[in-house]
Amino acid sequence: MMKNLILIQPNGILKRIYPRAVWNMDRSKKKIYLTFDDGPIPGLTEWVLDELKKFQVKATFFCVGANILKHYQIFERISHEGHVVANHTMFHSKGFKHTVTDYMREVDDCAKLVGNSLFRPPYGQLKRAQYKALIQKGYRIVLWDVISYDYETISGERCLSNAIRGRRNGSIVIFHDNLKAEKNIKYALPLFLEDSIKNGYTFECIPLSQDALAL
Ligand SMILES: [Zn+2]
Repeated sequence: MMKNLILIQPNGILKRIYPRAVWNMDRSKKKIYLTFDDGPIPGLTEWVLDELKKFQVKATFFCVGANILKHYQIFERISHEGHVVANHTMFHSKGFKHTVTDYMREVDDCAKLVGNSLFRPPYGQLKRAQYKALIQKGYRIVLWDVISYDYETISGERCLSNAIRGRRNGSIVIFHDNLKAEKNIKYALPLFLEDSIKNGYTFECIPLSQDALAL
């Protein structure tokens, strides 16, 4: 169940393997960068959008291309409401299981849908050659420094405390709008937003890079 833990551990070795990936933003500003992975899906992504609207918070959605095509109206709603839609491959593919060519094709196809260079590898997995190809093409690889583990079989309370305990200035926080995480995110997200706002944090989208992609 926890086999991905080593891969997504943000400290230490992965920072050395992916030195140009973004793990957090400016530590001197009281801002949090909320991110949602794996959508858009009917119901849950819409619920997330409603919550963000309630708290007047903007976030970044790392979307799976196949889900964008299936649920195009929800995809449009995300950008229409001022959030950023970013790339999470076409089919949520594991880097370790794909050749560089196949992986990059999926990434490029999803980039055409989202229209920017922000990219998050599913499971935080990348082969060294995939990492290099992404950087070379101008992708901005965005990882995270706070993970709620909403997709694991933990309680909603635990998921909330994971997010709150990890939270710092400039944190990139990851939640999932997928069905595995539904119970936990529905418990934790509103309370996390409320608590962060009470503690003086504001929320921003991950800034888009000005560099053009070499597609
Ligand atoms: Zn994912």
